[in-house]
Amino acid sequence: MAFNTLHKYHYSFTTTLKLHNMLKTKVLEALNEQINAEQFSALLYLSMSAWFENKGLPGFANWMYVQYQEELTHANKIFKYVVERNSKVELKQISQVPVEFDSVLQVAEQSLEHEQHVTGMINNLVNIAIDERDHATHSFLKWFLDEQVEEEASVREIIDSLKLIDGEAKGNGLFMLDRELRKRIFADET
Ligand code: MG
Repeated sequence: MAFNTLHKYHYSFTTTLKLHNMLKTKVLEALNEQINAEQFSALLYLSMSAWFENKGLPGFANWMYVQYQEELTHANKIFKYVVERNSKVELKQISQVPVEFDSVLQVAEQSLEHEQHVTGMINNLVNIAIDERDHATHSFLKWFLDEQVEEEASVREIIDSLKLIDGEAKGNGLFMLDRELRKRIFADET
């Protein structure tokens, strides 16, 4: 091989190496959007935790603080994945989270509604990965699909308990549930 040809070959080879594995624009944009959504979720739950602290419900506050920590690990899991795919994370402005809530039940219902919204975003991300034939991202997102099922089920369980105690001895039931939620501890499952 003449030097010139060899040089060209080497150049295109290293360029290909650099670009190899990089995320396509649509997938990258959606993943960056998802990082933002997970960070928003974290702050939403931290705000709910603060509200519960203020209402004298340390167990509920603990539950939401654990949720806050979990959401940060979700954002970081996507962050690491984007970096591994040789692509650029672009952090976006995080919207203002609500700071006032009507009731304990309303907080729980709002967090379920939010998780359902996040599930929709993950499903949409999967659709984009499939459209773009990005099998690795599709596979990466499976963890999030499973996580959303668990997330929604766990909030629904608390909503059910809250509805149950509302019809009975309210103060006592709420106190017991608060004590139960105090036991929750954070475990990084990513
Ligand atoms: Mg999440």
